[in-house]
Amino acid sequence: MKAIILAAGVGSRLNPLTNNKPKCLVNVAGSPILSYQLKAFIKAGIKNINILVGYKGEQVVSFVKEFKKDFSEVNINVIKNEVFDKTNNMYSLFLAKDKLKGEEFCLINGDVAIDTEIVTEIVNNPKKDLIAVEKGSYNEESMKVVVNANNEIIDISKQIQKSDAWGNSIDLYKFSKESSQILFDEAERIIVQNKNLNEWTEVAIQRLLQNKKLITHPFDIMNKKWVEIDNYDDLALADKIFSEFDRSLKSKKIVFIDLDGTVYLGGQSIPGADKFVEYLNNNDIQYYFFSNNSSKSKQGYAEKLKKYNIQTTSDKIILSTDGLIRYLLKNNLKNTYVMGTSAMKNYLSQNDIIVNSQSPELVIIGYDTELTYDKLKQACIHINNGIEFVATHSDVVCPTSEGNIPDIGSFINMIKTTTSKEPKKVFGKPNKEMLEFILLNDKVSPSDVVLIGDRMYTDGALSTNINCDFICVLSGETKREEVENIATAPTLIAKNLLDIIK
Ligand SMILES: [Mg+2]
Repeated sequence: MKAIILAAGVGSRLNPLTNNKPKCLVNVAGSPILSYQLKAFIKAGIKNINILVGYKGEQVVSFVKEFKKDFSEVNINVIKNEVFDKTNNMYSLFLAKDKLKGEEFCLINGDVAIDTEIVTEIVNNPKKDLIAVEKGSYNEESMKVVVNANNEIIDISKQIQKSDAWGNSIDLYKFSKESSQILFDEAERIIVQNKNLNEWTEVAIQRLLQNKKLITHPFDIMNKKWVEIDNYDDLALADKIFSEFDRSLKSKKIVFIDLDGTVYLGGQSIPGADKFVEYLNNNDIQYYFFSNNSSKSKQGYAEKLKKYNIQTTSDKIILSTDGLIRYLLKNNLKNTYVMGTSAMKNYLSQNDIIVNSQSPELVIIGYDTELTYDKLKQACIHINNGIEFVATHSDVVCPTSEGNIPDIGSFINMIKTTTSKEPKKVFGKPNKEMLEFILLNDKVSPSDVVLIGDRMYTDGALSTNINCDFICVLSGETKREEVENIATAPTLIAKNLLDIIK
């Protein structure tokens, strides 16, 4: 048994994701679609696989070179369709005629993320000709099949009416030696004699079915793991289905939830965030909210969340200020000069820190939304006098509905320019001090923890520093195509909090 993957097309509905890569190399739950297909064929015992490439085909060549290092026993040929932009997949298939005609083979389109089980069952099925069909489904854009009383497929096309359709084909086929022979003959007639290079492979299959030359059967793949990926919605579904992560969250002892961009955005609650927290409450899953923003008090956050129908208490809120306080107490530093809001100063005072010392041991920079020139001047004077400074976090900007506004990182840059000094320490995400003390207090191991957030370089990086699972929600800053280029893929990608448990 041989296999062919038709992966020459552009995949324009996945723009901008496919601007820089072919669709078959788009990642689903951290692995390219193509790697799911190759592994499925290999697991099913197929050792001769052909890949038809066109758009950005050189990337597939490089991918296959790397892939082969782990599967040296498998023969993977990459064949180029140089006129992929003027032809359709029947022409691509025809380019593999010398390798496949008269041989039994499986054919799949390069945009189907598929589980090994389906391919293995189809390859091992005693019926020599099969089409993978999702029984009962009807999709306008998909190829539909009609099945007769003998369980034979008698028609395939996109135009089949709902009342006649048995289900959608998912573009996975098994052909016997005899069928392979007549399929390539039919393709040759269409391409060489009729000079029609722009047809679906299914047009040849349909003619053979209608002429009763090909007898094939449906293989029902309902409730099995596969997704044909044409657009971002398909990709979102595939990211969820193919992630190994237990989305019930019941296997976790602590869930850490970022606030801005995850629970709310620009003064608006993100739909379903309250339902998600309700789910955690109903299932006794412990959770904390966390934020780098050191401008507000914990009580202020608890009240803000109440407005969004989320009932919580201030002890469930972790701010970048918490890591700072632990540091101050541990190092017995009481006399400080704080460039921060009155809410932040109050919180420090409650922990016995003097926030406006005339002779500070340390200068503390917070996200001071009440900043005055006088406060900035005093901080710089202390630093010029040799007092070290720390910052609660280092975000350069704070995103708002009116665009970016200055955050601590911008203040730090101004102080650095003025004093030529660097902060001694920065707390807040992505530094692990932000959340690590909770794990130590509660004696919880990183594998029992999941962190949820909307920023890869703060939330994602914090999860890497703690070594725990990370769920990237696309409700805030990060766009799906940005996740694609990150070295450490999130454990799960979800549209928003509610989508995780859906
Ligand atoms: Mg965020």
